[in-house]
Amino acid sequence: MFSGHFAIALLIKALYPKIPTTSIIWGAEWIDVINGIFGMAGINRITPNPQATPYMFVDLDFMDYDHSLAATVFWSIIWSLLFISHGRKTMLVAGLSSMAHWLADWPFHNSDLALYPHSSIRFGMGLWGKLGTTAWIIEAVFCLVLCIIVWRLNEKRGVSYRWAFIFQMALVFQLTPWTSPLHYVFQLPRPFADRLAAAMVFVGSVIPSIIMTRLVDTAEEKKDKKN
Ligand SMILES: [Zn+2]
Repeated sequence: MFSGHFAIALLIKALYPKIPTTSIIWGAEWIDVINGIFGMAGINRITPNPQATPYMFVDLDFMDYDHSLAATVFWSIIWSLLFISHGRKTMLVAGLSSMAHWLADWPFHNSDLALYPHSSIRFGMGLWGKLGTTAWIIEAVFCLVLCIIVWRLNEKRGVSYRWAFIFQMALVFQLTPWTSPLHYVFQLPRPFADRLAAAMVFVGSVIPSIIMTRLVDTAEEKKDKKN
């Protein structure tokens, strides 16, 4: 899952509007940020596979230090600890946002989410592998539904996330089966292509997190000014 992580973050923010946006939105993408770093460092292993639709076009052979269940728990605790000065509730919501990343990946990933590093027990219901393009459509609908729920929740508070929703749907259409840049990356020589793909995961997590956090905070500030 890619764009859906941001939609989940928007929902968590709408449910806990007083919790700092950074802890929620960056929390939801934190695991992919680490994945990009470990990929660039050569710790993770991927194999190009043009059949691996809808948009990754790689088999995720090894990413146990960021995407295994144990690693996600570990990184979620670290993420939560970064907000220790904000109090227990922020720590809890930050950790929850990070754990939600793994839960959202689980239905889509093709049995590549290990229980712990190097474990042969692997999770992932494999909607990507089983459904291909349809899995992308499911993610798109999921994002749309969450945006509608968030919009309803925010209406009661007098906040409009209009620009965040537009950006959210732009993310959905940024990584499609037809436009995924990863398809072209692996026409380049390896291991350069692998590192470039990891750099794209890193940038693809960091830049949208910066923009989404800004859009949400601007919307919240507008509401505060009105009151
Ligand atoms: Zn992920």
